[in-house]
Amino acid sequence: MKSQDIRSTFLNFFKDKQHSIVPSAPMVLKDDPSLMFVNSGMAPFKEYFLGNAKPKNNRIADSQKCLRVSGKHNDLEEVGYDTYHHTLFEMLGNWSFGDYFKKEAIAWAWELLVDVYGIDKDILYVTVFEGSAEDNLPMDQEAYDLWKSFISEDRILMGNKNDNFWEMGEQGPCGPCSEIHVDIRSAEEKAAIDGKTLVNMDHPQVVEIWNLVFMQYNRKANGSLEPLPQKHIDTGMGFERLCMVLQGVQSNYDTDVFTPIIREIETISNKPYIPIVGTSRDLSNNGDVSNNRDVSNNQDLSKNGTSNPITDSHQQEEINVAIRVISDHVRAVAFSIADGQLPSNTGAGYVIRRILRRAIRYSFTFLDQKEPFIYRLVDVLSKKMGDAFPELKSQKQLIENVIKEEEQSFLRTLDQGLVLLNRVVEESNSNIISGEKVFELYDTFGFPIDLTALILREKGLELNEEGFHLEMKKQKDRSRAAGEMSTEDWTVLMEDDVQEFIGYDFLETNVKITRYRKVVSKKDGEMYQLVFNLTPFYAEGGGQVGDKGYLTDSNGDIVYILDTKRENNVAIHFTKNLPTDLKGTFKASVDAKQRRRTESNHTATHLLHQALREVLGEHVEQKGSAVHSKYLRFDFSHFSKMTPEELSDVENFVNARIDGKLDLQEQRNIPMELAIKEGAIALFGEKYGDTVRTVRYGKSFELCGGTHVKNTSDIWYFKLISEGAVASGIRRIEAITNDAVKDYYQEHDREFYRIKGLLNNAQEPVKAIQSLQSENAELKKQIENLLKEKAKNLKGDLKNELTEVNGVQFLAKKVDLDASGIKDLSFEMGQQYDNLFLLFGAENDGKALLSCYISKELVESKGLNAGTIVRELGKHIQGGGGGQPFFATAGGKNPAGIEKALEAVAEYLK
Ligand code: ATP
Ligand code: MG
Repeated sequence: MKSQDIRSTFLNFFKDKQHSIVPSAPMVLKDDPSLMFVNSGMAPFKEYFLGNAKPKNNRIADSQKCLRVSGKHNDLEEVGYDTYHHTLFEMLGNWSFGDYFKKEAIAWAWELLVDVYGIDKDILYVTVFEGSAEDNLPMDQEAYDLWKSFISEDRILMGNKNDNFWEMGEQGPCGPCSEIHVDIRSAEEKAAIDGKTLVNMDHPQVVEIWNLVFMQYNRKANGSLEPLPQKHIDTGMGFERLCMVLQGVQSNYDTDVFTPIIREIETISNKPYIPIVGTSRDLSNNGDVSNNRDVSNNQDLSKNGTSNPITDSHQQEEINVAIRVISDHVRAVAFSIADGQLPSNTGAGYVIRRILRRAIRYSFTFLDQKEPFIYRLVDVLSKKMGDAFPELKSQKQLIENVIKEEEQSFLRTLDQGLVLLNRVVEESNSNIISGEKVFELYDTFGFPIDLTALILREKGLELNEEGFHLEMKKQKDRSRAAGEMSTEDWTVLMEDDVQEFIGYDFLETNVKITRYRKVVSKKDGEMYQLVFNLTPFYAEGGGQVGDKGYLTDSNGDIVYILDTKRENNVAIHFTKNLPTDLKGTFKASVDAKQRRRTESNHTATHLLHQALREVLGEHVEQKGSAVHSKYLRFDFSHFSKMTPEELSDVENFVNARIDGKLDLQEQRNIPMELAIKEGAIALFGEKYGDTVRTVRYGKSFELCGGTHVKNTSDIWYFKLISEGAVASGIRRIEAITNDAVKDYYQEHDREFYRIKGLLNNAQEPVKAIQSLQSENAELKKQIENLLKEKAKNLKGDLKNELTEVNGVQFLAKKVDLDASGIKDLSFEMGQQYDNLFLLFGAENDGKALLSCYISKELVESKGLNAGTIVRELGKHIQGGGGGQPFFATAGGKNPAGIEKALEAVAEYLK
């Protein structure tokens, strides 16, 4: 069965069981402080499990893109070494939100695997939670009894809390689970070792494929469990592992999900992928790829019949690992970029950068790829997966550009790192290279430690790993101390399902606090987070900043709201202090001035988006947006710098819409499909609910949850401030509107009068400046001539000062010339005299300069070298330098040493 059909069979199966099929949510999470990426199918539905929102249908199924590279679930270091963990993988899942529970979940899983996909039940094992004394939980008898009716009891295994109690993070919904494992080893292998003993033992052919989680608890901050108000089902099946089973292969990388990419890597690198059956995990000891390894079944190396030039199985296995790493990582990176997450130096972007760099490192070291090539794999990837994930097709060029640019820059880093590493090696007088130095290479230049270790080993040197890890730990401790944050459990004051946002229509209303908690962080100290029953405060999201404002209690006392953020679909209001009467009613007031300016920038952002698509073309896609009260920033895909004409066209286009006094037309709760059908622009990588809000001004028509002006004339004026590149193929515009434009022009006005003042209030300042400029140029020319004249005179004087030392015409003297004057003088004298040796010293702007000229014939006959000489003399002036054998210069910070240098050279020549 082809992978596409495997996916659609899963979805159709659950569709027939009354599940709504939804598309995969974007991988990058935007409103969940505890999680950076979706790491399991349930993450996008967390708000349903927490009761913050209600799904339209209690049964949902999908295939969700997951990324396990950070936080609680981090498989990054496994990837490549084993054959069944990926960074990015698809998780097939079915959900029940307070609807069906264990009975149906277990029966349907069995029906799908055995009856629909036709998996032989004798290769299956299932596990059941054995209970946990620590959490005071009994064994999951209910699940055990249900499984009994499908599978023989000797295939039902007990599992501990580690394997059979699923938790998304440190806090939040959790519950016992049952996993389904497959044993796809050969009959002989099965006869030799009982499969039971291999379940959950990291055997590459005895792996977990599906986890059925029975969500029934909530883990609190203090570690205790409380029952969830409703019981839920959350299942996740690894799509690539399922394909491995159904396609009868031994590794995820041998399924049609990966083989096209692997073939392409083979073609480009001219290195074969010849997997050795069995695990290569022992290669990964300490993450060190070059440990020696004894591959017992060498005959596998030639199993595909091609002649294999690589006879060393160890070397072949390194290539295999590299090819698996690259084929995996290119998917993760491409999907992230398509989701709008570009590689960067912080947060989620940094994780993506690290994944890509890991792939580059492996291709650099084991596939000998010294030029960018990973970007060339995007083509196959988008052809192969573009039907299921159209974003890979529509954004192919951008993905390629971004990856290529990252590759180029990291390969440069590797090059520089090699030079620096060589220097470290040269300077070291021991066979063991200090961990501190290597850490510096790693930390400052991003030069990877494993590569350092490898290179050192090739040179017969060792790395002080302990020292390195110590430095690493020190740094981690430093950053942990800086970012430390603790969050208390919520104190619930009032039950209320879903907080309502009324801020589109009101900036002030009476509210009650439904729950609050304390958070402590190094950065902000102690803060409180409040949730209201309803709120006029806009919570940061969709690029727009959160509202500020204040609460007034019945006594007229005020508590300031410093920020509003969104967390799993709930608006959280931040305060420094708790109100005294928490249960009272408060008047909640939004800072209207800030909100008005922010709205103005948000609407202008929509108009700007429209303008860019109009002026530059439909390929323009929003790639990021920040709407503040003071300015707006807009990132978009476009492949060249905007011309001045394009910029002014865009500015004029927006201002024409402002002059056009267009009314806001909004639809608040319309079905997503309908909005799209009507032509509203949706943003890629943004998570939308079943119903959406649309915002329209004339022909600008977008899905948007942000707040906007009632009429475009409220924006007053739109002014572009800057345009530039953020990454290859991504441009950034910054602009201002409204009051900020007034401030901008007022500031320019003041600046203008300051300039006029300096020009003695000239009637025509431009003319005045032009005349100053030409006067200045004239004066410069005169000075130059004077200096030339001076040098000529000097040359005449110097003639008498030449002395002869050992057949050399010698002069060492301090002169009052700059570097280029000295150079001219030296070369002119060099034309006049043979066997010349000149050393000039000069002091300019408090800095010392030494310049040495030696006639070519002296360089040849006496083996003199100006470069070596100035380097040596440079010590006197506390500096260094170099150059060629016949002419070299040194600069230093100690002019007092010039005389010493002059004396030293005379001494030297004698
Ligand atoms: P494992 O123990 O094999 O790492 P897990 O217990 O971490 O698996 P779950 O968190 O239960 O896995 O995820 C559900 C399913 O997702 C698994 O049964 C497996 O099929 C798949 N899966 C988990 N992690 C990965 C991964 N890194 N790459 C590919 N598939 C994965
Ligand atoms: Mg795992």
